[in-house]
Amino acid sequence: MKELFARRRTLILKRGKERVVANRHPWIFAGAIHADHGPEDAAFADLVDSGGARLASGFYSKHSQIRLRALTFGEELTEELIASRIAGAIARRRPIFDEGTNAARLIHAEGDELSSIVADRYGDVIVVEIANRGAEHIKSLVIDVLQRELAPRAIFFRNDLPARRLEKLPTEEEEIAPAMILESGLKFRVDAAGGQKTGFFLDQRENRRLARSLAAGRRVLNLFSYTGAFGVYAAAGGAASARNVDVSARAIELAAENHALNGLPGEQTVADAFQFVRATDERYDFVICDPPAFAKSRNDVERAARGYKDVNLYAMKLVAPGGMMMTFSCSGHMPLDLFQKVIFAAALDAGRRVSFVRRLGAGPDHPVSLFAPEGEYLKGFLLEVH
Ligand code: SAH
Repeated sequence: MKELFARRRTLILKRGKERVVANRHPWIFAGAIHADHGPEDAAFADLVDSGGARLASGFYSKHSQIRLRALTFGEELTEELIASRIAGAIARRRPIFDEGTNAARLIHAEGDELSSIVADRYGDVIVVEIANRGAEHIKSLVIDVLQRELAPRAIFFRNDLPARRLEKLPTEEEEIAPAMILESGLKFRVDAAGGQKTGFFLDQRENRRLARSLAAGRRVLNLFSYTGAFGVYAAAGGAASARNVDVSARAIELAAENHALNGLPGEQTVADAFQFVRATDERYDFVICDPPAFAKSRNDVERAARGYKDVNLYAMKLVAPGGMMMTFSCSGHMPLDLFQKVIFAAALDAGRRVSFVRRLGAGPDHPVSLFAPEGEYLKGFLLEVH
């Protein structure tokens, strides 16, 4: 490790790009770099000014347009500093864990000042994602700190990330054992290796709790249900009925299993949600709509907005007067104000009077750096629909 921290690439900042550093955004792009030297395969790089003074240090990648993922801005970058960031991230989550909850995100990249590193705890299993070439070099340090702090049964690495392909890092899938987790006293089967990108959407925990608290006596529709987590919570909250709808048969199978695990009733439908909301004659008192990220890039935003409007419009029509709706966008490219406009347009076209009851977001295990606000990808609204 000592040698790893000593072998560094040096990046010289272009004149006129000083603002990039002054704003403390951790992503330093190739376009801000005037020249560079030192070992190309270094894990770390220092960004210096034309006089050679150190401005920032962090993970280096020669393959990414983000040449430097800054971890410090002037401060010495050491093994101890990274280890203490990992330990600090874990310490920040301690209040989330109790006898009813043993799953949460442990490390949230920029939000924990560990750009490109994500770690999720699923009970006694931890799944780590490393999306950067420089960070890949400190895998053993990440393992050591996780072992020391939490002593998990197993630590897996998710290697099939698109970012890893761009970084020319190994992408072979590791065999990730399925885990059973507890969240808010409810049991869920998590199949982290399954078809979906993640085994369980930990970011929605607090919104699921809110849904549980609102569900009593209501007919609940959970659109884009994945493995039925919102449906299980709704049933636990005393919903009159809870229907999960997802296009993935495997997800719906797990949803049925999750309802059964908790001894809670639920109805399962494998269907395209866009078609389902148009076709059904049923009415609901509480609709949850949590689609996948429709905007995968900035260019997709307009098309994504049409998708969000379409599904929200028809979903709103299914809400019985006075009912509630929870609607989300988890696309980082969809700004909150645009999402609000989309919901406004959907309400107009649905011919419904709608009020915002609460603004929703990810839980506190998904902190967002003030210096990298695009990390706030999950946004939503709790609506009352008349
Ligand atoms: N609300 C879930 C997470 C949803 S993830 C939770 O809290 O766990 C998005 C889900 O949308 C995935 O399960 C995916 O299979 C599903 N999906 C994608 N396109 C769909 C479509 N057109 N119709 C229905 N489901 C779809």
